Amino acid sequence: MCLVAALTFAEARQCVLDRVREAQIEPAIETVRLAEAAGRVIAAPVAADRDYPPRPRSMRDGFAVRAADLPGTLHVIGEIRAGEACTLEVAAGQAVEIMTGASVPPGADAVVMIEHVVVEGAKVIVDRTLDPGANVNPQGCDARCGEVLLSPGRRIGFSQTALLASHGASSVDVYLRPRVAIVSTGDEIVEVGETPLPHQIRNSNAWSLAHQVTRAGGEADILPIARDQIDATRELLQDGLHADLLLISGGVSAGKYDVVEIALKQLGAEMFFDRVLIQPGQPCVFGRAQGTFFFGLPGNPASTMVCFEVFARAALELIAGIAQPSLYITSAPLAVPFRHKPGLTRFLPAALNADGTLTPISWSGSGDIPSMARSNCFLVAAPDQTEYQAGSLIQVLLP
Ligand code: AMP
Ligand code: MG
Repeated sequence: MCLVAALTFAEARQCVLDRVREAQIEPAIETVRLAEAAGRVIAAPVAADRDYPPRPRSMRDGFAVRAADLPGTLHVIGEIRAGEACTLEVAAGQAVEIMTGASVPPGADAVVMIEHVVVEGAKVIVDRTLDPGANVNPQGCDARCGEVLLSPGRRIGFSQTALLASHGASSVDVYLRPRVAIVSTGDEIVEVGETPLPHQIRNSNAWSLAHQVTRAGGEADILPIARDQIDATRELLQDGLHADLLLISGGVSAGKYDVVEIALKQLGAEMFFDRVLIQPGQPCVFGRAQGTFFFGLPGNPASTMVCFEVFARAALELIAGIAQPSLYITSAPLAVPFRHKPGLTRFLPAALNADGTLTPISWSGSGDIPSMARSNCFLVAAPDQTEYQAGSLIQVLLP
């Protein structure tokens, strides 16, 4: 049941970003310990608590010297180890043995590498010149005291964890994870623990979606399966609308028993799109009801996965407080020729190989879960290019 004109992939994605941004959802904030902060979203600015480095720092093992003394033979007046307060001062004709990470002593303006000197007792012979500043990180070159280094809306990856740790942040303010309700629909669907009859299949979409939700920073809540009747479906969707985001699998195509859009309408839904020129996932639905955004994801497992990655994930990330939702599309040379029919942007299972080339994975259609499980990315075929030669670049979506 098409309610609005079909959108292109780019239009549909922009629609998701615009609608969710317009809603200006302000997630609540909680404080978590650094050990629990991986993957969470920063909720308050983190500023440098001092200059980084706090003193000029040696980048090498070697000798702290005055660049103007080189080349020359210098008198070694002592050593400075990493972790040792610096008490020495380097005068003309002198050098101090220094280790990587140690503070460069006053008077010295460069470090000559240990590999580039000859040591003779208390003397060091340097046969080369150095520019002032060579092998020295000046004070504050990484960050100045008070400078904002992490802004709200940034996900905490391992480098952000390093930054928080280096600043002594044993706890950190993050946004609460959005709760994402997942409703699967279909008379043929049984729970994972059940043995399906020949005309039944197990509910894989709820689980792939829950995994995708967790990766994107949400908390998945799998609701019971909705059978293909309007009333039963509406009741479960109503439950799902209490969450921060509702994901529905199946029941959005043009079949006689695809009742999701009817049930959503009865719940007062506003539809932003219900068809996108992509494959798999053409009948994808996006809208809002009772203040909650929802996606109706076509039930074929590949359609559900793709529509989540390219549309629902962006909405979830925005609701989670992420400033810039991610979509990693790059390009890679094809290992073999590829062709497809024009008109749709296709997201097909593919393998990005160790040599950087891309191989499409043959599949029997968007219900082929084993082929999806053999892939590690999606080949993205443009709607206006039907033929791709081996070796030519094609877009790749990295999930
Ligand atoms: P639908 O979008 O409801 O027309 O479903 C399209 C196809 O996806 C059908 O072959 C369904 O059996 C399959 N399907 C629907 N829901 C699920 C699910 N939760 N898990 C696995 N496959 C599903
Ligand atoms: Mg169905």
